Amino acid sequence: MKVMKFGGTSVGTPQRMKEVAQLVTKSGEPVFVVLSAMSGTTNSLVEISDYLYKKNPDGANEVINMLERKYERHVQELYTSEETQAQTRDFLREEFSYLRSFTKELFTSFEEKSIVAQGEIISTNMFVNYMKEQGTKAVLLNALDFMRTDKNAEPDPVYIKEKLAAAMQGHSPEQGEEPVQVFVTQGFICRNAYGEIDNLQRGGSDYTASLVGAALNAEEIQIWTDIDGMHNNDPRVVEGTVPVRQLNFDEAAELAYFGAKILHPTCIQPAKFAGVPVRLLNTMDPSAPGTIINNDFIPGKIKAVAARDGNVCIQITSSRMLLAYGFLRKVFEIFEQNKTSIDMICTSEVGVSVTIDNTTRLEEIISELKKYGTVQVDNDMTIICVVGDLRQNNLGFETLACEALKNIPVRMISYGGSSHNISFLIHKEDKQATLQALSKVLF
Ligand code: ADP
Ligand code: ASP
Ligand code: MG
Repeated sequence: MKVMKFGGTSVGTPQRMKEVAQLVTKSGEPVFVVLSAMSGTTNSLVEISDYLYKKNPDGANEVINMLERKYERHVQELYTSEETQAQTRDFLREEFSYLRSFTKELFTSFEEKSIVAQGEIISTNMFVNYMKEQGTKAVLLNALDFMRTDKNAEPDPVYIKEKLAAAMQGHSPEQGEEPVQVFVTQGFICRNAYGEIDNLQRGGSDYTASLVGAALNAEEIQIWTDIDGMHNNDPRVVEGTVPVRQLNFDEAAELAYFGAKILHPTCIQPAKFAGVPVRLLNTMDPSAPGTIINNDFIPGKIKAVAARDGNVCIQITSSRMLLAYGFLRKVFEIFEQNKTSIDMICTSEVGVSVTIDNTTRLEEIISELKKYGTVQVDNDMTIICVVGDLRQNNLGFETLACEALKNIPVRMISYGGSSHNISFLIHKEDKQATLQALSKVLF
């Protein structure tokens, strides 16, 4: 079975939903569909939550009313039968009265998570109602029944596999009955270890698709979005980028983690472990080839460049590090104790520089580090990641990348941590120039 995930733009209007319905029934094979919220909805739900945090129920109600009017128009456009329209209107009435109920209550992150979950709940219900109206045997499986994270907020693959199988089993056809053609579930949303409604972070529907694909040992996981596959540079920043037709799992994971927004940062991992290929496809141009992500490795090629903003660079210098052992352990322990993960690392005989993107405990970290040396902090840094065959015997590529940046003030360079990545740390204001320079030299 194939898993097909459609992002916000792909289900962003009733017309698009109709096109998605055609795509998922095209092969005639049973498929498992994961949907995002219609584009803009999650942002509106976050805005509603912001108003409620600020104790401004009028602001929240205004956004709720606007959203409700939008969905009212969608119902008219999407369905032809009065019966399905009435059924969907009843469902939406309940949804919006649920959203309004929060304007009277104490507001915490628990309530916020329940609110932001409604985008995917609405899109999947509307889609399944449409498929049924079209005569397709479609079944909605509630992601909250099988998608769960553990105490470390990591997905729990054993639980997911077991509960998903049970949920699907519940729809096995009786004798003489048609089998289910399309299973549909919500991306992004889950329950946490305490059974509360939670989510897999913004953009997390890709992660849902990958976890479902791994749990089902799917034939392929398809991520349908608004562009023809992974491009060789960030199309939001650089002109003239082109699709990369094949990526190794590790290359794709690196690009996703370091800012290629087309994929959620951690979504490649479950697919890689299960050995399920991932295909990136374009809903706006379904016949375009897209990008296949699998175990193949094409030697001698630089594949793509990505950029991730929002990093802080911390440098600790100390003459005590000179010829001493155990210094780095003390430094890294401080990050561990503060539950802050490090992305880039560079060391010299008298100092070490690291980058972090979670600054919640920055003050505590700096204060502890000062016991071991002089600490310097640079904010607003961007990591630029060049991905491809960067094994040491693939001569010249690291030189080319460095040569491209000859006019850019580079703060850190990291090479050799893996055989498919070289990373540069630069100031955010140099991002566009850096990405352009790399495109020019590498592609
Ligand atoms: P969806 O809502 O379908 O999940 P996203 O907006 O999350 O879609 O991801 C698709 C977007 O990712 C594209 O429109 C594009 O602007 C952006 N993007 C950033 N880097 C890349 C890249 N290297 N290749 C392709 N798209 C990229
Ligand atoms: N709807 C969520 C978001 O906008 C999840 C997703 O689309 O992947 O972030
Ligand atoms: Mg996305």
